[in-house]
Amino acid sequence: MLKVDGEKCIGCGACASLCPEGFEMKDGKSHVKNPKADCADDAIAACPVQAINK
Ligand code: SF4
Repeated sequence: MLKVDGEKCIGCGACASLCPEGFEMKDGKSHVKNPKADCADDAIAACPVQAINK
């Protein structure tokens, strides 16, 4: 299950920019919007702190 670790996320917004279908920013952190988004892997690869897991 696609998940953002709220402890690790630094709120850079890279995942939501790369994959707006899959992630949204809320209160300065990323949250999964659609766990089945095809672009999720790109966001996982781009996260600078490895906060996204699946
Ligand atoms: S790319 Fe990583 S650190 Fe940046 S907002 Fe997304 S989950 Fe948070």
